[in-house]
Amino acid sequence: PRLVRSAAYTFVRPVSFEKKELLGVSKAALRDLAIDNATVNTHEFVETVSGNKIITMEGKEQPNDNDIYPWAQCYGGFQFGQWAGQLGDGRAISLFETTNPTTGTRYELQLKGAGKTPYSRFADGRAVLRSSIREFVVSESLHALGIPSTRALSLTLAPEARVRREMTEPGAIVARFAQSWLRLGTFDLARSRGDRDLIRKLADYVAEEVFPGWEALPAKLASPEEKDSINPARGVPKDELQGSEDKPEAQENRYTRLYREIVRRNAKTVAYWQAYGFMNGVLNTDNTSIFGLSIDFGPFAFMDNFDPSYTPNHDDHMLRYSYKNQPTIIWWNLVRLGESFGELIGAGPRVDEDAFKKEGVKDDYMDEVVKRAESTIQSTGEEYQTVFLAEYKRLMTARLGLKSFKDSDFEELYSELLDTLEALELDFNHFFRRLSFITIEELDTEDKRKDVAGRFFHHEGLSGLVGSEADARARMGTWLGKWVERVKEDWPTSTEGTEERFAAMKAVNPKFVPRSWILDELINRVEKQGEREILGHVMEMALNPFNEEWGWNKEEEERFCGDVPKFQRAMQCSCSS
Ligand code: AMP
Ligand code: MG
Ligand code: MG
Repeated sequence: PRLVRSAAYTFVRPVSFEKKELLGVSKAALRDLAIDNATVNTHEFVETVSGNKIITMEGKEQPNDNDIYPWAQCYGGFQFGQWAGQLGDGRAISLFETTNPTTGTRYELQLKGAGKTPYSRFADGRAVLRSSIREFVVSESLHALGIPSTRALSLTLAPEARVRREMTEPGAIVARFAQSWLRLGTFDLARSRGDRDLIRKLADYVAEEVFPGWEALPAKLASPEEKDSINPARGVPKDELQGSEDKPEAQENRYTRLYREIVRRNAKTVAYWQAYGFMNGVLNTDNTSIFGLSIDFGPFAFMDNFDPSYTPNHDDHMLRYSYKNQPTIIWWNLVRLGESFGELIGAGPRVDEDAFKKEGVKDDYMDEVVKRAESTIQSTGEEYQTVFLAEYKRLMTARLGLKSFKDSDFEELYSELLDTLEALELDFNHFFRRLSFITIEELDTEDKRKDVAGRFFHHEGLSGLVGSEADARARMGTWLGKWVERVKEDWPTSTEGTEERFAAMKAVNPKFVPRSWILDELINRVEKQGEREILGHVMEMALNPFNEEWGWNKEEEERFCGDVPKFQRAMQCSCSS
């Protein structure tokens, strides 16, 4: 382990394990990577996803000088708000990039838990089976829910890798992939070292290689209307990006656009997290993606009972990474990125110091740059809020089965619903799924509404409820009354209209999300009981979360989609993994 300067990555080879057992493969991942199903059963596949075999361009056993060679990325990060210095891929090693020939999407495939790298610091470069199972399932679950995320191709048990944590545990390797593994922390580190050259190189790399199409963003702050109609076509002429000679302010430079693109993507992803009750649990800048993906799955969780102050991270005493703080924290992280980009976004269209000096701001170059950068960060902050809110409203509108958004919905439907779920300690994701199947007729009298309200209560009864069950029914009944009026405004009241609404709601309100209790049971059954098939079944549910059934075992499926056992609600996880 060492400090790596003036570089964004280091070549490093995964360790080899004699014994390995392929525990699971994601079918969706195979599709997206354009890997033939039959390949999975080959020796070469297992050898590759477990780090034993390096794929070379020319198919040789050893890479030559000009060939691809595995690498680990160098990055730093702010952890819990404190600068932590160099972190880097301490147990992740990238093998290659591959492009899906049909979609044209390029992915970087990497192995997690495949041994030490220069970034391992004091740790062993390994990953325990338990956290690998969690990452394997949640990556694919988020993706299936439509939430931008890094992905997981396979999970391999490496029985020889006995990993010492509180106890000695079996090790595992997850083969995972993403359009980009760059983190905000990649830029933080270069900035902390004053490496202006590396920042510029990285920014150019991201602009040209990572974001196809980002250049077509509208040149100024997007209005809410134009925001959704951005044309992702490529091909803006380069000189236009540099700004015109006579009107240097007229055109944003490419770095400002790039910053905005990164901000907008993250704003949308957080909106998804909030709308689906997902918490990352450790939103440090090294765990925030340049591509706007959900990334780094440690003590994450899906919300059980709705509780805005819930953090899945056992060590997060300040609730920094709680549900309600996620939008603010991601913005805090993005401001750090804006500061790293400071010179690039602050220097105006001509992004080199000499040209800037010719403009006559010779002596106070940095003052001027800082002023301009600050103002750009501020306006981008407004854009972050706008994009976040627009996306959040879009998602909540859909989850509530509405076709339109009315300003009054925010207070009367969203806030009132969330307050009710919180006060009655009701399950967030179950609520939306159960709401998806309620007809207008079932809600046409107050008594009926109170009756229907009971469907959202836990079968074990109302836990920890302040007040009586009658009050609870009345409160939920009142909300249902408001909701059904909005449904009537948006949908025909015919049977077909109702069927159509059911279908629309089912398609956005998952029946299955991998709650912490389910992952715990899964880990226990795979690791302690030696079960194998269960992993495939749970993965199948994660990959098809909106299904009504999965053709595996009706009773088990319903149990995994049913009430969270009372004492396993809102579990917390510690970081040792
Ligand atoms: P995380 O808490 O997952 O964001 O990880 C923070 C840093 O610790 C990253 O640089 C990781 O690569 C590194 N790290 C975590 N666990 C290990 C491990 N077992 N071996 C090597 N590095 C690790
Ligand atoms: Mg991390
Ligand atoms: Mg991690």
